[in-house]
Amino acid sequence: MSKSLQAIRGMNDILPEQTPLWRYFEGTVARLLDNYGYRQIRMPIVEFTELFKRSIGEVTDIVEKEMYTFDDRNGDSLTLRPEGTAACVRAVLEHGITGGGQVQKLWYIGPMFRHERPQKGRYRQFHQIGLEVFNLDGPDIDAELIVMTWRLWGELGLRDAVKLELNSLGTSESRGRYREALVEFLSAHLDKLDEDSQRRLKTNPLRVLDTKNAETQAVLVDAPKMADYLDDESRAHFEGLKARLDAVGIPYVINPKLVRGLDYYSKTVFEWVTDKLGAQGTVCAGGRYDGLVEQMGGKPTPGVGFAMGIERLVLMLEALDKVPEELSRQVDVYLCAFGEAAELAALSLSERIRDQLPNLRLQINAGAGSFKSQFKKADKSGALYALILGDDELAQQVVGFKPLRGQGEQQSIAWDALAAHLATCVVQG
Ligand code: ATP
Ligand code: MG
Repeated sequence: MSKSLQAIRGMNDILPEQTPLWRYFEGTVARLLDNYGYRQIRMPIVEFTELFKRSIGEVTDIVEKEMYTFDDRNGDSLTLRPEGTAACVRAVLEHGITGGGQVQKLWYIGPMFRHERPQKGRYRQFHQIGLEVFNLDGPDIDAELIVMTWRLWGELGLRDAVKLELNSLGTSESRGRYREALVEFLSAHLDKLDEDSQRRLKTNPLRVLDTKNAETQAVLVDAPKMADYLDDESRAHFEGLKARLDAVGIPYVINPKLVRGLDYYSKTVFEWVTDKLGAQGTVCAGGRYDGLVEQMGGKPTPGVGFAMGIERLVLMLEALDKVPEELSRQVDVYLCAFGEAAELAALSLSERIRDQLPNLRLQINAGAGSFKSQFKKADKSGALYALILGDDELAQQVVGFKPLRGQGEQQSIAWDALAAHLATCVVQG
């Protein structure tokens, strides 16, 4: 195929074989968020480039090298959103829905775009479910976010495969003091730092903690620790969070090097990580960002949120064999009809059945065909039962009812009794 007719590298089709698992995952999360009182918000996929520069920070991987940025026909610089928080903050400010301390508990789902090196679990178009809470500044809400994800892992059967890493970056004051101490320490070891870290030391020193370079990591062993720089407020917040996680029995490890890639975090940061996906191990990440709304031109407004990567979680469900059995079957009943008169009767019968059983997954044969070919299609559809409507059945106002999986003889069922019969033998998902 010519290059122009292929999908862009790192941007994937999600084929019909995969969509049931995606919908199962997305549906499970959506139901959970509904139950905890979160409301969905939908933002555009494209925003002014300036929005991401201002919120995410100029010296982050995302803004420095991962954004899909282009000029539109008016000459405005636009960017395909690389994450959801910036647009969500823009939206709440634009609509004034966090004004006067109004609490908002919002969630969103959709594609995000980053020009990264595509590999398993890392793509250029990927999908996130994220949530943001505004105007709640206590550790109780930070805990709720984590408790909710813990419940999600439970529902999905993933609890044993994920680990919670936690850290506190403190208030901006304590982070500022820590940054100074870190810069002083690292400057004294400048020659041992890798090139990236030397650069970050000037632009975003906390990010040096995040390095993958072994020599720099060795230097960091003796670096000052954020925990020693937390002020009372930050410390109390962190303790409050830990006490709540302990109360629910959620295990965690404190990772003092966890700083997150974006500039805007403060106090709580956390990641759910797994060793089941190779290098792309973070499936959900978030934290508190009390300074962000103000930084973006709003009144001081505490915020906290997280985002999870749908591709990585879908990969995990597959890798751990946690795909629910019933997802493999898309059709409950397949209706075969033979001859023109029977086809007409089959159509109106099937519509009556759909009225009575709105959740029944009933597929009606299209394209006519011999007895043998329709039966083959019925079997291939995965249906549990075939319904058969030919001239004889038409004359008697019955259908043949034939189990396709396992035992059971074909029987005749009157049209009027069909819905009741199907209701007893088809488990409706
Ligand atoms: P990573 O360290 O893996 O690059 P990140 O810190 O850049 O992740 P976030 O911006 O916190 O990621 O996004 C939240 C979640 O979205 C990640 O934990 C991950 O599950 C998912 N995610 C991020 N980037 C990608 C990507 N390029 N492809 C697939 N999923 C991604
Ligand atoms: Mg990244």
